[in-house]
Amino acid sequence: ARATEALQRLVVDVPDFPEPGIVFKDISPLLADHDGFVAVIEALASHGRDGAGAPVVDKVIGMEARGFILAAPVALSLRCGFVPVRKAGKLPRETHAVSYALEYGEATLELHRDAIEPGERVLLVDDVLATGGTVRATAELVERCGGVPVGVAVLMELGFLDGRSLVGDLPVTSLMTV
Ligand code: 5GP
Repeated sequence: ARATEALQRLVVDVPDFPEPGIVFKDISPLLADHDGFVAVIEALASHGRDGAGAPVVDKVIGMEARGFILAAPVALSLRCGFVPVRKAGKLPRETHAVSYALEYGEATLELHRDAIEPGERVLLVDDVLATGGTVRATAELVERCGGVPVGVAVLMELGFLDGRSLVGDLPVTSLMTV
């Protein structure tokens, strides 16, 4: 409830960014508010715990760039490691790469081949689920490493884009649907 209240109060709608017709959800005022930031990190991290509160994931993966800001503190809260998924050409060692369509434009994401050990359970964390392309590409990257995506935790989902159907069977939890 604290997290939902913070999201409603501190995420700002920006019309026509980055393109005409897109209403961009700006999370920077939320990140700047300590209580709001703590509330959403704890709400996201709860999706990596069992009913007794014990962590059930081995890694938390965040997608460039806003996913990094959320996934890293979630990983610390769950006492596990953080792994970055980056846009093409940014990671220095051998990678897996997956291309996908964005709500606006196209992109390629990469993951270091040794970032996830075979069999590791991975929680995906990002700010917004829009078309689902980013989440789907990331889940595919985890699988290419032999890892097991166990869930997706996002702050917000844009319900009208129906990203869940592209994501498929992987459970998605969002703190707020808009
Ligand atoms: P998708 O791949 O699901 O279409 O788009 C999700 C990705 O685009 C996420 O990584 C997210 O950061 C970014 N994104 C798309 N729309 C918005 C938005 O309105 N606000 C923010 N903050 N990020 C967005």
